[in-house]
Amino acid sequence: MTIVRVEHVDKIYRLDEQEVAALKDINLIVAAGRFLAIAGPSGSGKSTLLNLIGCIDTPTRGHVFIGTEDTSLKSPDQLADLRARTLGFIFQTFNLLPVLSTWENVEYPLLQRKEFSRKERAERVQHYLNVVGLAKYAKHRPNQLSGGQRQRVAIARALAGSPTLVLADEPTANLDSKTGESILRLMKQINEIEGTTFIFSTHDFRIMQMADRVVSISDGELVKEAVTPVAG
Ligand code: ADP
Ligand code: MG
Repeated sequence: MTIVRVEHVDKIYRLDEQEVAALKDINLIVAAGRFLAIAGPSGSGKSTLLNLIGCIDTPTRGHVFIGTEDTSLKSPDQLADLRARTLGFIFQTFNLLPVLSTWENVEYPLLQRKEFSRKERAERVQHYLNVVGLAKYAKHRPNQLSGGQRQRVAIARALAGSPTLVLADEPTANLDSKTGESILRLMKQINEIEGTTFIFSTHDFRIMQMADRVVSISDGELVKEAVTPVAG
């Protein structure tokens, strides 16, 4: 089953008179259940591509399909709904709300999901705090946690709504290499146990080796897949 299909996508940013072609004719098909790395140096277009797949931004040309749904045919409200129901996000800088506790940060995106009762919300938060090993830190604020712990909170938050696809933009870039690898191992475990598809970007060779498929991007263009997948 295909979970993401990117078809002939260009993204051009216009700043004053200047145009930057951040993505050029990107074509990508991602099967459900993948643990996919988008590899490339700084400025190559990784965040732009993840933002388009995440329906945070729209392409200048081309189409992005999530499942069978063409995101270009949707209204902003429909896109927000699609994001809330099917996507989870993990960011380089964690993006936790500083005034909320660990528990509240994980619960926060569930508050807009009317289909979850209060009880189910609590069960979900508890479950995912257990999954990421932070049940004891439920009352801590982000500034009382290490970088690795903050990213675990962000992972629990991304997963709590049972997304089919998690997008992670350089999730290890602000972590030391040992912590970064443990975060990737945790993501991989969740991918294997829960079947959640992950697409993450990185410029770190050790991190990209943990993927089961690697696509490289250079100067806004996808490079033919050259890196041999380790599995899958
Ligand atoms: P990466 O995530 O691989 O570092 P980006 O996707 O952030 O790369 O950026 C790709 C290119 O698009 C860069 O040249 C960057 O300067 C440009 N760019 C990114 N975002 C914007 C924006 N909002 N406005 C103008 N140019 C942008
Ligand atoms: Mg980036």
